[in-house]
Amino acid sequence: MKKQGPKNLPNKRNPFSFLLIIALLGAGLALFFQPEGSIFKKEDVENIPISQLLQKYRANELEKIVIDDQTITAKTIDGENVVSIRELSSNIKDLGLNDPEIETIVEIKDTASSKFWVNLLIGAAPFLLLIMFLVFLSKRAGNMGGESGPFSFGKSRAKTYDKTKHKTSFEDIAGAEEAKEEVFEIVDFLKHPKKYHKSGAKIPKGILLVGPPGTGKTLIARAIAGEASVPFFSVSGSEFVEMFVGVGASRVRDLFKTAKKNAPAIIFIDEIDAIGKQRGSGSGGGHDEREQTLNQILTEMDGFEPDASVIVLAATNRPDVLDKALLRPGRFDRRVHIDLPDMNAREKILAVHSKNKHLEKNVDLKKISSKTVGFSGADLENVMNEAAISSVKQRKKDIAQDDIDNAVEKVSLGPARKSRRINKKERNIIAHHEVGHAISGHFTKNCEPVHKISIISRGGALGVTWFLPTEDTYLNSEQKMKDEMVSLHGGRVAERLIFGQTTTGASNDLERITNIARSMIMTYGMGDEKQLGPVVFHKKSRGFSGIEIESEKEFSENTARLIDKNVQILVQEAEDTSTKILKTNLQLLKTISKDLLEKENISQKEFLAYFEKKS
Ligand code: ATP
Repeated sequence: MKKQGPKNLPNKRNPFSFLLIIALLGAGLALFFQPEGSIFKKEDVENIPISQLLQKYRANELEKIVIDDQTITAKTIDGENVVSIRELSSNIKDLGLNDPEIETIVEIKDTASSKFWVNLLIGAAPFLLLIMFLVFLSKRAGNMGGESGPFSFGKSRAKTYDKTKHKTSFEDIAGAEEAKEEVFEIVDFLKHPKKYHKSGAKIPKGILLVGPPGTGKTLIARAIAGEASVPFFSVSGSEFVEMFVGVGASRVRDLFKTAKKNAPAIIFIDEIDAIGKQRGSGSGGGHDEREQTLNQILTEMDGFEPDASVIVLAATNRPDVLDKALLRPGRFDRRVHIDLPDMNAREKILAVHSKNKHLEKNVDLKKISSKTVGFSGADLENVMNEAAISSVKQRKKDIAQDDIDNAVEKVSLGPARKSRRINKKERNIIAHHEVGHAISGHFTKNCEPVHKISIISRGGALGVTWFLPTEDTYLNSEQKMKDEMVSLHGGRVAERLIFGQTTTGASNDLERITNIARSMIMTYGMGDEKQLGPVVFHKKSRGFSGIEIESEKEFSENTARLIDKNVQILVQEAEDTSTKILKTNLQLLKTISKDLLEKENISQKEFLAYFEKKS
């Protein structure tokens, strides 16, 4: 096979630096091999005083004399080599030597001129090296679009998208119709600013795109730039934050300056919460730096002239942590919410990401969209990509429905870890645990239908029971949460009924059950009305890092006791219901578990078939 060289080597070398390196090398070599005024090998030469040498000259004992600016070297008729130090000031006549024009044995060697160049090079070497270093640094900074290097420390690190190469349009965004509608006027403003200025209309300076991760906030920002055909400067909030105070602010200044120069333009600040958190929240390092950066953004946004066609878009998943000053009119006063896509939108997103892929004719994207409740646009893109990779691995020509189904599982549950060796006894426990969840959930009214049961471990889980909603819902009822707790208890209850004891495998279930019960009592007012009343006891706040923290208790010890009691009652009730269901269906639990041990996976259809048989 033909070997390929590294592709990222620069193919054009700078001739200037190349010559400089040669010159410096030459100077070094010249210095190293510099003749010390001798035409003979050093070891053959005898040092004698100049008077003795001149005596030999006068006595015609010399065959050849070579004079340079430091030494007089001579060869005697007997073949001896001698050398004497010459005083620089002394010229040939002073020395008592004949004019070399007449005296053929005398040779004058002009080392001074050659030494001049060597000395010049050696003297200039440090300066040349410095120049080379500076040239190298400025080149590097230039190559990286000013993104790094000491000269660009205070420069903004915004990526600029070439509107001709990276043209994103609204067509690339599937679903998100309301968000697109809201930003459409921004595009119109950027295209025809005069129309708006004439009528005295003010277009918002800042637009905050709010939504969960991966819902297409960046995509929308790029589409606005693409549709309006204006430059797009994209930067992440965290890129402003450096170790040194003031760097962030200087980067903000630079970013706005560049954008104004290229107006009409769009500045996009992703993850604005990294710098836009409420000021004065106290904890955390780099606090001053963050505040200064935020202040600079506020100043820059205030400083826009009314007709400056620069629009700042910012994205965040946590608008609640943002500083109020950022959100007031004149700054990010318009919010565009982008939610997780619904069934219809998911189908459209899947279609967008299938465009450049070969799908089998019978692939039903609607079916996949119904299986992917809660997936973001980025997840769906990932699903289609995983499906394509899987079909390539299997050397298939087209992507089949199966490939996409497997990709959905992989994206939501993690990749299957088939290499994990689990012993027979533990596999048996896992199978009963999972079937316990499935049967408990199946016999409740409000649990989502069982989609799949598997004892192939995925990610950190040893087995999985996958309940899949059939439609998008936006509310959770009290009974639904109770039923969810029943199905979560199923695994642990099954272990106890079959093996007489429980294992650590149920710890995550218990954690989730407790969280649901606590939220029901403390956040949703679903506790005993007479004891607690419809009161919220759970006050959430976010710390500096954005992580939700529980604030100080604002209720009495007695209320705390009542809350605990109410939580315990809910958890206990759910466990009792689950035990009742599994005791009634003990034979079914054993049968399905046995089949699961053999098959490793049980599909929704196979699972439902057991109940048809029973009825
Ligand atoms: P984050 O909050 O994590 O920065 P984001 O909301 O900015 O995420 P994007 O980076 O815009 O999300 O989206 C990631 C990818 O998901 C996009 O490149 C796009 O391919 C895909 N995607 C998301 N939403 C959509 C959509 N509505 N239509 C088509 N593709 C989408």
